[in-house]
Amino acid sequence: MKSGNTPRIPGERFLHSPGPTHIPGEVLDAMHRQPMDHGDPRIELLIAACENGLKRVVGTEKADVYLYAANGHGAWEAATENLLAPGDAMLIPSTGFFSEQWVVLAEAIKRRAIRTPYREGYPIDPNEVEQALRADEKHEIAAVFAVHTDTASGTTSDLAAIRAAIDAARHPALLVVDVVSSLGAAPFAMDALGANVVIGASQKGLMCPPGVGFVAVDARADAVAMKNPARGYYWDWQRRKSDRHYVKFCGSLPQNLLFGLEAAFELLFAEGLEAVYARHALLARAVQAAVECWATEGALSLHCRVPAARSVSVTTIDARQGIDVEALRNVTRERFQVSFAGALGAQRGRGFRIAHLGDVNSAMMLGCLAAVEAAMIVCGIPYGRGGVEKAIEVLAASVSTATPI
Ligand code: PLP
Repeated sequence: MKSGNTPRIPGERFLHSPGPTHIPGEVLDAMHRQPMDHGDPRIELLIAACENGLKRVVGTEKADVYLYAANGHGAWEAATENLLAPGDAMLIPSTGFFSEQWVVLAEAIKRRAIRTPYREGYPIDPNEVEQALRADEKHEIAAVFAVHTDTASGTTSDLAAIRAAIDAARHPALLVVDVVSSLGAAPFAMDALGANVVIGASQKGLMCPPGVGFVAVDARADAVAMKNPARGYYWDWQRRKSDRHYVKFCGSLPQNLLFGLEAAFELLFAEGLEAVYARHALLARAVQAAVECWATEGALSLHCRVPAARSVSVTTIDARQGIDVEALRNVTRERFQVSFAGALGAQRGRGFRIAHLGDVNSAMMLGCLAAVEAAMIVCGIPYGRGGVEKAIEVLAASVSTATPI
């Protein structure tokens, strides 16, 4: 088998993984350009467009943004290494595979990660956060590192409640938030929330390929980082405080990805962030209505047990033991031209994930749901009939305005 989309298929293969997500034509076109030489003054304009776009979508007028030629793991490492020295403690409230991966990363670079108890299918419990901070009488925990949407469990946690828990515990820990899979999909505002650092990446709601990670850093977090004697080299954002792009990026900047990011922001702002959030919420409701219908036969169920915490970016579906999820994915991808993601971590092989994230509309989602139904028939998976109709009803009921969905 060759890589990529060969042999050619008629039409398009729909990509419903929660990152990388479908890339709009405008973004692909923008990237399809020759890079500029490092002395070209237009590079500064490109960087400014990306930094300003990020600040707007992150909801900050106060924080500084640092971009890395990196994926989300790189941005995780940047935040962790800047804010904590080896041996320092951080609280990572458990919310699924991605909070756990952050623990693994922190421990690999010798930071001390403390977890809250994990309850599968549930968002972060703010009471557990408060308790853990109250128990830390010596205030050794430097920061709470919260994943907004755990992309594996399809669960979104209440960040305002986590902020309130830190305040209620009267603990000086910083609040660091991973919005990797919620940015550009769910409403978020760094300044209003009182987050000190925000972490994101290009390949999800920002509709670009993987390769640009970023951190937004407020003055308090920056002061903590400045005192840290072990910030590393590449990730150290102090080194990036410069007007010279070669310094800012610690070397060559990923120009073509930035061309794409600039174009993606133009699309997001032309649509309007409120409309973008409304579109995501609606498509998520449609998908989740379909899955609830499928679940009536008992073979499938929504992983997230709390309806209000179900992500607007991705829906995670548990499959009864004995269902060959990989066969379902293969049939859906190879025969019906729709690809979606498998479950991760402890859930691997026990479920799948349908993303409704980024550059998606109602027709794409309905096509995706119909393809999954077709593949379930092929694979002999029992499911409640009528899921696509349920999704149609949700979409039809809400399209009362001229807003294209
Ligand atoms: N955080 C969250 C919530 C994610 O979903 C992911 C990846 O899916 C990451 C971090 C890591 O990002 P990357 O795969 O770009 O390293």
